[in-house]
Amino acid sequence: MRRISIFGATGSIGQNTIDLIARDRDAYDVVALTGGRNIARLAQDAVRLGAALAVTAHDELLPDLRAALAGTGVEAAAGSAALIEAARRPADWVMSAIVGAAGLAPGLAALEQGATLALANKETLVCAGPLVLATAKRHQARLLPVDSEHSAVFQALLGEDMAAVDRIIITASGGAFRDWPIEDLAHATLAQASTHPNWDMGQRITIDSASMFNKALELIETKEFFGIDPVRIETVVHPESLVHALVGFNDGALMAHVGPADMRHAIGYALHWPERRDLPVERLDLAAIGQLTFRAPDDARYPALRLARGVMAQGGFAGAVFNAAKERALDGFIDGRIGFLEMAAVVETVLERFDAAPEGRETVMTLDTVLAIDHLARDWADETIRQRAG
Ligand code: NDP
Repeated sequence: MRRISIFGATGSIGQNTIDLIARDRDAYDVVALTGGRNIARLAQDAVRLGAALAVTAHDELLPDLRAALAGTGVEAAAGSAALIEAARRPADWVMSAIVGAAGLAPGLAALEQGATLALANKETLVCAGPLVLATAKRHQARLLPVDSEHSAVFQALLGEDMAAVDRIIITASGGAFRDWPIEDLAHATLAQASTHPNWDMGQRITIDSASMFNKALELIETKEFFGIDPVRIETVVHPESLVHALVGFNDGALMAHVGPADMRHAIGYALHWPERRDLPVERLDLAAIGQLTFRAPDDARYPALRLARGVMAQGGFAGAVFNAAKERALDGFIDGRIGFLEMAAVVETVLERFDAAPEGRETVMTLDTVLAIDHLARDWADETIRQRAG
C-alpha cells in the first residue's frame, strides 16, 4: 500500500485529492491529513480514510479536533510544529495543498524524508525555489507539479530535451474581470472577485485569478520548476481554460495540453505518475466546443504580470517578498481595507522598499532566512496598507 499524506486536506485541492483516494481506498495507507479551521471536515475525512493522524494548523482548535475524533483511533494534533512533525512521518507521496507561504515548511520537511511531493502550493517555489530544489536533490525526493499549467508543461516535456525548448506558454482564463472596462476595476467588490468564470477553487486563488496575481505566481513557479530563462516564458489569455499550457520547440512545433477545467486531472496525474490511469474527468468533445480563443494579456489591466517579470529578473528573495506582500494585500482587500487595484500598488511599494534595503543581500537561502524576509515583507505591506487606508 502507498503511504500518503495530504496537507490542506480540507481545501479545494485537498478535497479533490480525497475524492480520488476514496475511489481506490484499499490502495492507500493514509498517514496524515491536515487542515485549518474546518475541523468537522478534517475529522470526517480522517475517519473515512482511516488516517493515523489529523492536524489542525490552529493550536486553539485542538480541543475541538480531539472531541471530533474521540473514540475513533485517529490521533489529533495542532499547530505549526505538529504540521512539520506530520510531514516528517514517512510517506511515499505527499500532497502540498495548504494555501500561502504556510505550505513551505511542511513541504520542505516532506522532501527531507524523501517523499514525492505533489506541489499544488505554488508559493513553495515562488518563495524559496532554489532551496526547495536543492532539498529535493539532496534527499533524492521528487517534486511533481499539480498546478494545471505546470502539470501540462511537465507532460508536454516528457522525453524532450530542454535545450530544444524555445518557450513555455502558460494560459490564463483572465479571471472574473477579464471583460470589464478597466475604469470599473477600482470598484470591484469582494463578492465579484470571488467568482471564477471556469474553475471552482478556494477563495484566495479565485481572487488572485481576477487580479492575475495567480498567473504572476505561476510565471515565477515556471521559472523555478523548469529552470527556464524568464524571457522564454509567455502568458496568453485563453477564456475557455481548456488549453492549460503549450511548449514551443526550436523546430517551430507547439505541444499543447488540452483538457477539462478539472483539477482531478493534474492531481491524478501526479498521484499515478509515471503511469497514466483512468480518471473520472470529462472527455472533451472538441466539435461541440467549436472554438478556442486566445488574446494577449493587457499589462495595464494586470499589473501583477509586470511585477512578476521584475521579481524573476531579480531572483533571490524577491519571490518571498512578492508573495508575502501579495498575501497581506489580499487580506487587506478581503477585509475591505483596500480596493481591488490597490493590491498591486501595495505589492509594488514593498518590492521597491526591498530593492532599496540591505535585507536579503548576500544572505544564504535557508528556511529561517526565507521566513524572516517573509515576516519583514508582511510588516511592510501592513504599514503600506495602513498608510493608504488612513
Ligand atoms: P483552499 O483555500 O481551498 O484550501 C486551503 C487549505 O489550506 C485548507 O485545507 C485550509 O484549511 C488550509 N490552510 C489555510 N490556512 C492555513 C495555514 N495558515 N496553515 C495550514 N493550513 C492552512 O485553497 P486551494 O485548495 O484552492 O489551494 C491550495 C493551494 O493550491 C494554493 O497554493 C493554490 O494556489 C494552489 N492551487 C489551487 C488550485 C485550485 O484549483 N484550487 C489550482 C492550482 C493550484 P481550512 O479550510 O480548514 O481552514
